[in-house]
Amino acid sequence: MDMTINAAEVEKILADSRGKSERELDDILDRAEALKGLSPEDVAALLTTGSSTRIERMFRIAGQIKEEIYGERVVMFAPLYISDYCVNRCAYCGYRCDNKFTRRKLTMDEIRSEAEILERMGHKRLALEAGEDPVNCPIDYILEAIHTIYGMKAGSGEIRRVNVNIAATTEENYKKLHEIGIGTYILFQETYHEPSYARFHEAGPKRNFNYHLTAFDRAMRSGIDDVGGGVLFGLHDWRFEVLSLMLHNRHLDETFGAGFHTISMPRLCHAQGMDMSAYEILSDDDFKRVVSTVRIAVPYTGMIISTRESPAMRKELIKTGISQISGGSSVEVGGYALREDGGEQFEVADNRPAIDVMRFLMDEGLVPSFCTACYRKGRTGDRFMSLAKSGNIKNVCLPNALMTLCEYMMDYGDDSFRIQADALINTNLSKIRNDSMRELTRGNIEKIKNGKRDLFV
Ligand code: SF4
Ligand code: SF4
Repeated sequence: MDMTINAAEVEKILADSRGKSERELDDILDRAEALKGLSPEDVAALLTTGSSTRIERMFRIAGQIKEEIYGERVVMFAPLYISDYCVNRCAYCGYRCDNKFTRRKLTMDEIRSEAEILERMGHKRLALEAGEDPVNCPIDYILEAIHTIYGMKAGSGEIRRVNVNIAATTEENYKKLHEIGIGTYILFQETYHEPSYARFHEAGPKRNFNYHLTAFDRAMRSGIDDVGGGVLFGLHDWRFEVLSLMLHNRHLDETFGAGFHTISMPRLCHAQGMDMSAYEILSDDDFKRVVSTVRIAVPYTGMIISTRESPAMRKELIKTGISQISGGSSVEVGGYALREDGGEQFEVADNRPAIDVMRFLMDEGLVPSFCTACYRKGRTGDRFMSLAKSGNIKNVCLPNALMTLCEYMMDYGDDSFRIQADALINTNLSKIRNDSMRELTRGNIEKIKNGKRDLFV
């Protein structure tokens, strides 16, 4: 059976879980700390507690879990917007169909040059983004764009994984996306609360709540192994949204053997022309709590934060479980070329170039990673999940992070970057526990320094 959501049931679980004693909360947190997995009732108890000491403990455990599962690597990616045509009227989005501006979609040459610019920033993993418009942005255009990006080579690098964030579609179209070799298929539910969904999705095919909610069922039935979910925090009560996300994750796990590969954590921010009183904007503290609860509830899922958040907030959230961040992003169609030409700057809260985001990570003792190894080694879907759940994923994450960091430092780093990255690589090499893996990685680092590229385990 496809995904359904029963709002009354979600609300009942939340209501029944309120007011747990500190002892009961500690019991839940002990199990979380031991990576034993949490029931929806446990998650609801964490979402509804008012105990500040237990909330602080949650923050600490979330950070520990991220470290325990993935180690110190933080995966980097960038979005690539290829078309802003859209037939939907989502109240919170600048691309909504009644907003008047000159819309565009990139030609294949433009897509190639955007991908080249991203590659010159060091990126290897993109999230391809497009509005929904079957006439101006049909599936064939998306497929051609992916083909173009995979075929691009710039200097000694290339884009190695294209994740795709396009509108809910048919099984036939998902099969085509699978066949062309996408990475993760990403789709935000926006809100799991059907009345709120109806309120904020005013017109267009996206208004169909059930079609949107069951998109991952169609995608996974069509062969796509890795799907990435998310909600736009601010459209409805965050406790309801987090618990619903977890129920969606459980549904996918039970039906297809793998829950969400990633969960994105976008928080609704002020945008021009929006009536902010219509939204339930989260405070920084509540948002931190959302992130840490998700990390605790789904320890093995990649968690993504975008440049919607400020550098200071991103720093906080990495400590409470975020494992992937975008860097140097443009959220405009053709925005990377515009920026190179001195065109308009994009409006995001963190507009540092990718290299500065990497420096910030390294200053924190973290290892920025451009790894795409799992996807290319066939470690997707349930194969990925079993490696993650066995606790062995970090045995490949760290070596791959160090190799891709070495590539970056050789190809794009300046002198000061190289000194910092080289020291970080050496320190982290000694943290690889398995002797043969450590020696393999050490050897590969030397090969990369001598000009070899694209080594991974
Ligand atoms: Fe914006 Fe996507 Fe809604 Fe279109 S479908 S208006 S691009 S959120
Ligand atoms: Fe991600 Fe797999 Fe690379 Fe780890 S080894 S960073 S899980 S692709």
